[in-house]
Amino acid sequence: MVVMKAVRYHGPGQPFRLEQVEKREPGVGEVLVRVTASGMCHTELHFKSGLLDLGVAPVTMGHEVVGRIEAVGEGVSADRVDERVIVYYYLGCLECAYCRVGDEQLCPNLRAEYGFISDGGYAEYITVPARNAVPLPTTIPDIEAAPIGCGVTTAVHAARLAKPEVGEWVVVYGVGGVGFGLVQLARTTGARTIAVGRSAEKLDKALELGAEIAVNASEEAASERIRRITGGAGADVVYECVGTEESMKEASAALGRRGRLVFVGYSPDSFTVHPIQLVVFEQTVMGAVGATLNDLYEAVDLVERGVVRTVVDRTLPLEQFESGLNALERGELVGRAVLVPNR
Ligand SMILES: [Zn+2]
Ligand SMILES: [Zn+2]
Repeated sequence: MVVMKAVRYHGPGQPFRLEQVEKREPGVGEVLVRVTASGMCHTELHFKSGLLDLGVAPVTMGHEVVGRIEAVGEGVSADRVDERVIVYYYLGCLECAYCRVGDEQLCPNLRAEYGFISDGGYAEYITVPARNAVPLPTTIPDIEAAPIGCGVTTAVHAARLAKPEVGEWVVVYGVGGVGFGLVQLARTTGARTIAVGRSAEKLDKALELGAEIAVNASEEAASERIRRITGGAGADVVYECVGTEESMKEASAALGRRGRLVFVGYSPDSFTVHPIQLVVFEQTVMGAVGATLNDLYEAVDLVERGVVRTVVDRTLPLEQFESGLNALERGELVGRAVLVPNR
């Protein structure tokens, strides 16, 4: 058995461990990818705390995976060897009503979900079906590409659901990996963007990326400020990327008539809203999870064209995964920490 290093989840509340695991050769229709960049997402903290428990352990973490195809399995063109790729982390059944229209993120019979229920990219290698290895243009370096895999794709998907329009007020509540993408996408649609966060450094980055106004929620009540900014009307779209009791209360209070509140982030806290608010203002509350394969192609294209920029705070060798997770948990990162398993 050929082995490799991987950072693995061992069940709710258990620490992740760096260990030696089998390097799986590509089977029929698969490719073996030598991982060069692997983004660290807040989801990993949810695994660690036990908030997200999908019942599969041990499993290698990491769903923002970039690398180079090193070998191909039967049925895959040898021309793909050496190709730079980014991984689409869902593999649906491809037969159900959701998969048939490309919504693999909703498939009730997932065959794989890399970094969730299947071995992901906190490792030297990952083996995935050839169609999950999406070509990466030479203009996007590996490290900058990693946050596309979840951060940008999740933003693209959430924006598709919320459909912000020209001139609408869009609030991006939470300025992490997904939030930075949402700020840039809102700007391109001609919407007016308010970024809400608790760190001056992250809010400055949001302004640099195109947010019109930054609101520091640790200094003022975000909803009151948003009401003032919008002349009392409230926001048309609020992307909730935090999901704590406080942020949910503020996000809901900031929502205007026909407002769309889109949940992207979550915490152990529950959401409470009086239905009269939804009724009389005809508001919509929705969730957005992951992305379609097409969203990933779209996200790669947006970054290649310079419409969306990814933000990387630091890179770390696989061995230092813990320091990256700790920095993420403390809210210290402006953008992603990216693991570089092969350097
Ligand atoms: Zn993620
Ligand atoms: Zn399916």
